[in-house]
Amino acid sequence: MTEDAVEHRRMIVSGTGIAGLSAAIYAGRANNDPLVLEGDEPGGQLTLTTDVANYPGFPDGIGGPELVQRMKDQAMRFGADMQHGVVESAQKRKDGRIDVEVSTGDRYVCDALVAASGASARTLGVPGEEELLGYGVSTCATCDGAFFRGEDMLVVGGGDAAMEEATFLTKFADTVYLAHRRENFRAEAHWVDRLEEHADEGDIEVMKNTELLEVSGTPEDGVDHVTLARNETGYPKENIDDPATETLDLDVGAVFLAIGHTPNTGYLEDTGVEMDDRGYIETVGGDGGGQTKTAVEGIFGAGDVVDHHYQQAVTAGGMGSKAAMDADEYLEEIPAAGERTEVAAGADD
Ligand code: NAP
Repeated sequence: MTEDAVEHRRMIVSGTGIAGLSAAIYAGRANNDPLVLEGDEPGGQLTLTTDVANYPGFPDGIGGPELVQRMKDQAMRFGADMQHGVVESAQKRKDGRIDVEVSTGDRYVCDALVAASGASARTLGVPGEEELLGYGVSTCATCDGAFFRGEDMLVVGGGDAAMEEATFLTKFADTVYLAHRRENFRAEAHWVDRLEEHADEGDIEVMKNTELLEVSGTPEDGVDHVTLARNETGYPKENIDDPATETLDLDVGAVFLAIGHTPNTGYLEDTGVEMDDRGYIETVGGDGGGQTKTAVEGIFGAGDVVDHHYQQAVTAGGMGSKAAMDADEYLEEIPAAGERTEVAAGADD
C-alpha cells in the first residue's frame, strides 16, 4: 500500500474483548468481513481473570483467557480478520464513510465501525504511584501477584474487582490489607462473604474508611511502605484536616489498585459521537432495533465503552452481537464499494 492510499473495509471492530469478539462473530456470519483490531490489552479485561464462574454455558467455570481464545477461534471461523493495532483516530468523512488510523501506521476507510475498545484501569494519582507502577504498584493482581510471594500486600477498592483480587492474592501474600474509602462495600454479597471468610482466617485484614495517601519505594527496590489515612466517618482524604483523621504507615511489598476503569474512547473525540463527562459513549438504547447506534451514522458502541453499570462479560457479549446486527442493517443501505480495494486517501477533501 502506498502512503497515499488507504484500504477499504466494510466493517471495522475496534477491540478484542468479549464485546468486540461477539460483534466479530455476528458480523462474520452476516458476510460483513470484519477487520478486528486488537489493541494493547488483547482479549480485554477477561484475560486477567483466572476463573469465570458466571458465564452461561460453563457450569464448572472457564478460564478468562480460554473463553477469549474460543471466541477468537469462533470469529475467525466466520471470516474475521484479526490484526494488531490501537485505533488512534477516527473521522467521519463527507461521503459517509469513516477514516480510521491505527498505531501501526495503517490507515483504513470503513463503512461501519463498531467501537468495542473497552476500558482501562484507573489510578489514584497519589505520590509514588506513577513512579512505582510496574515496580510494585499494579492494576492487575492476576498478572503480578505471584511476583510478590511471601510479602504483605495492599489492595485498594471496595467493588467486586477489589474483593476478587484480595481473595486471589491470599495465595501469595503473607497478609493482604484491603483499604476501602467508606464503611459499605460496593461489591456483591458473594464477594463480601468470601472476603469475610478470609478475614476470619486471618489472611485478609479489612481497613474500612481508609484511603491511600502515598506509596514509598524506588523502582530498583520496589515498594517499601504506604501511607494511609483513616477516618471512621469515611472518605478520610476529604476530611484530612479533621483531628479525627489519623495517618498511618504500613509496610507492604506491593499495592494493587482496583478502583474501576475508564472507557477507551479518546479516538472518537473528533467523530461527533456523543459521550458523557466520563467518556462513556451515548447510544440510542431503548427496546427497538438500533440500540447500539451512536449520534454518528455508521458508528456503533458495545461493551465497556458504553456500559457504566452492568460491565459483565455476558452483557458485553450481548451488546457486541446487537452492534453487529445494527451495523448489518445499516450496511444494507450502503453500497459495498469494492471490498478490500484501495481508495485514494483524502478522496473526500
Ligand atoms: P467498581 O464497581 O466501580 O468499584 C470501584 C471501587 O473502587 C469502589 O468501591 C469505589 O469506591 C472505589 N474507588 C473508586 N475511585 C476511588 C478513589 N479515587 N479512591 C478510593 N477508592 C475508589 O469497579 P470494579 O470493582 O472494577 O467492577 C467493575 C465492574 O466489573 C462491576 O460491574 C463489577 O460487578 C464487575 N466485576 C465483576 C466481577 C465478578 O466476579 N462478577 C469481578 C470483577 C469485576 P466507592 O464504592 O466508594 O465508590
